Amino acid sequence: MKFGTKTIHAGVHPDPATGAIMTPIYQTSTYVQRSPGDHKGYEYSRTHNPTRTQLQNSVAALENGKHGLAFASGMAATDCIIKLLQPGDEVISTNDLYGGSYRIFTKVFEPLGIKFHFVPMHDMTAVREKVTERTKLIWVETPTNPLLNVIDIEAAAAVAKEAGALLVVDNTFSTPYLQTPLDLGADIVVHSLTKYMGGHSDAVMGALVVQDDELAQRLAFLQNASGGTPGPQDCFLILRGIKTLHLRMQRHCENGRAVAEYLRQHPKVAKVYWPGFADHPNHEIAARQMRDFGGMISFVLQGDRKEDAVAVLEKFQLFALAESLGGVESLCGHPATMTHASIPPEERRKAGLSDSLIRLSVGIEDVEDLIEDLRQAIG
Ligand SMILES: *Cc1c(COP(=O)(O)O)cnc(C)c1O
Repeated sequence: MKFGTKTIHAGVHPDPATGAIMTPIYQTSTYVQRSPGDHKGYEYSRTHNPTRTQLQNSVAALENGKHGLAFASGMAATDCIIKLLQPGDEVISTNDLYGGSYRIFTKVFEPLGIKFHFVPMHDMTAVREKVTERTKLIWVETPTNPLLNVIDIEAAAAVAKEAGALLVVDNTFSTPYLQTPLDLGADIVVHSLTKYMGGHSDAVMGALVVQDDELAQRLAFLQNASGGTPGPQDCFLILRGIKTLHLRMQRHCENGRAVAEYLRQHPKVAKVYWPGFADHPNHEIAARQMRDFGGMISFVLQGDRKEDAVAVLEKFQLFALAESLGGVESLCGHPATMTHASIPPEERRKAGLSDSLIRLSVGIEDVEDLIEDLRQAIG
C-alpha cells in the first residue's frame, strides 16, 4: 500500500462484533473470562485495549515497523525507553532537542545513575568521541527542535551499530509521511502523537515503534509494569486524526515553504531556520532522507532583541501563542520562555538557541491569510 492508503486502512479493521467501520471506543477497564485464564486476548486495559490495539497497529504500519506501543504521552514513551537502561549506562543525545526530553534525562534519570552526553550531531565525529563500552543508546531528534538542524539517520545508525548501542529517533516533527527512521537503521521510533499524528490539538499521547520482537516484549513489559498507558477515547481521536495525516502534511509542507520564503525576504528578519532552503547547512541530508521539508520554521529578528520578538508574538492574530505544534491551526512560540525554558540559558546559547528566536508551527489554513498575519505582526 502507498502511504495515503495506509493512513486510512493499515492496521485497522471493521469491528468484528458489529461491522462498525470506525474503531469503536472500548471504554472498559476489564474483560469477562469464561474460565480462569480463558479469555479473548484482553484481560485488563492497562495491558491491552482493543481501541489501543488498532492505533498501535496503525502507527506501526505507517513507520514500516512490526510492533507499536501507545502511551499516555510522548514523555511516557520516552520514559519507557530509558528504563531499558541500568545505572552506569550512557546515552549520547543531540544537544538541540525537545525541552521535556532534556528535563527527564537530566532531572529524573541522571540522578538514578544514567549518564547523558549532549552533542551536536550535524557530523558524527562529536558522537564517536563520546562512545565508550557503556554507551547503550544514541538519541536523535530530526529535524531538531527548535533550530531545525537535520541529522543523518543512516550515519547515526552506523555509529550505533559499531558501538553496540540502540539508535532511537524521535520522529515527532517529521512523522512517517516525511521519513521512516526504521528503514534507515533506527531501532526505536518515538512519537509524541499529540502533535502532527493526531493533528487536531485535542489529545495528548505518545508511541514507540520497533522491529525486534524481543525489544518489543521488553518495552511492553516496562509499559505494563509502569502503567503510562492511554485511555481508549484518546486512542480513538488519534486514530481519526491519522486518517488525514498525508493530506495535512502535504499542506503543512506547502504552507511552510511559502512562509519560509516570505520571512526570508522580509527586511526585519535576520535569519530563518528551515531545512528546505538550498543553503541550509544540512539541506542535502534533508533532501535525501525526507520526502519534503515540513511546516516547522524558526526565525530571529534583526537586532536579536527579546523584547522585539515578544512584541511580534503579542501582535499575531491567526498564529496562536501556545505550546505544542503540528495541529491544523498555526501556532507561534517563544522557545526560551516556553518549550525550552527547562534548558539552562548557557546550554541554550551553546546550542545556538537565541532568546529572541520565534518558532512557528505553520498550520493548514489558506496561506495568504497566514502571510498577511506575519506582515502585520512583524510590521
Ligand atoms: C511534544 C514533544 C514530545 C513530548 O510529547 P508529549 O506528548 O507532550 O508528552 C517529545 N518530543 C518532541 C519532539 C515533541 O515535540
